[in-house]
Amino acid sequence: MAYGQTNRLVYDISGLYLIPVNDAWRDEFRRSVESPVNLTAYEDVPPQLEGLTERRIWGTTETDASKKQTAIDQMTSGDSVLFYHDGEFIAGGRVQCTFENSDVGRLLWNEPRSRHIFTIEDFTTDVPAIEHIWNLLGYKGRPVVQGFTRVADQRVAGLVDDSGSVEAAIFDEGSDEPSEAEIENARTELKQAIADEPRLTEAEDEFTERRQRARDAAFARLVKEAYDDTCAMCGQSRETPDGRPEVEAAHIYPKEQNGRDDIRNGIALCRLHHWAFDSGWLSLADDYTILVRDCPGRNGYHEFKQLEGKRVRLPSDERFRPDQRFTAKHRELHGFKNSS
Ligand SMILES: [Zn+2]
Repeated sequence: MAYGQTNRLVYDISGLYLIPVNDAWRDEFRRSVESPVNLTAYEDVPPQLEGLTERRIWGTTETDASKKQTAIDQMTSGDSVLFYHDGEFIAGGRVQCTFENSDVGRLLWNEPRSRHIFTIEDFTTDVPAIEHIWNLLGYKGRPVVQGFTRVADQRVAGLVDDSGSVEAAIFDEGSDEPSEAEIENARTELKQAIADEPRLTEAEDEFTERRQRARDAAFARLVKEAYDDTCAMCGQSRETPDGRPEVEAAHIYPKEQNGRDDIRNGIALCRLHHWAFDSGWLSLADDYTILVRDCPGRNGYHEFKQLEGKRVRLPSDERFRPDQRFTAKHRELHGFKNSS
């Protein structure tokens, strides 16, 4: 599924609301949010809901507290909401539309003061534990929602940085696959990183697991693109019958050694040469010529030997070429003499 960049952007900067549902309102919440309101059952439907058959509807009252009032005024379609009751988040979703109308409150809950109305889409009761959300948002202290709250934009921006969107951060945490938006974010990061001195390894626990998966995917895409889906060693660019390239993105200083996801620590290789590179048959000299391990007694030696001294195919963009500190480490790891 392809997302329009603009659409994502709208979601990415959306707000996040924490909305308490107190004991007195719990049943109303069941009736008008957990089960959508059947609008055809009402004779006088407010103009904002006219022509609709059903909607999940919630509302809140006018307030003297300016902070809450600002939060209410800022709420807009696309914002995320989490409903809180008795120490837990009980549901979540996204604001569909907002409007002000005291008739709705009177009609649905016999409470005209609940005049700030919003409808909810993408409704779910599958919400992570409150401690987890508290952590995500970087809140300290006991997790309690005191009142109608708009989460500070800075905290939301932190979530979006990590996961690509508020929804992805909160609702898709269990999913294995990072979203396209997350991969795109990671890709931008990796591209920007080539302005810095390369570092050999990743810092411990630098990224969440999910973010790491997004980086893995972004790294693979960038490397394959830079090498035009072609093996740097043999120049093959095989494809599957449905057109997917065979070529793989290899880490020069390997992942198992915590080698960094840096384009300059990457090289595109076909499966055979990826294996040969990782297992120590092949390495790279500083002048980008191929080195072959001197093991004439082993099967495969004579085949690999033919590559010796050949220069690998490199990305046309010089900034994406393997950095010597990674190739030197690869030689060292596999017992090649460290000469250039
Ligand atoms: Zn190859």
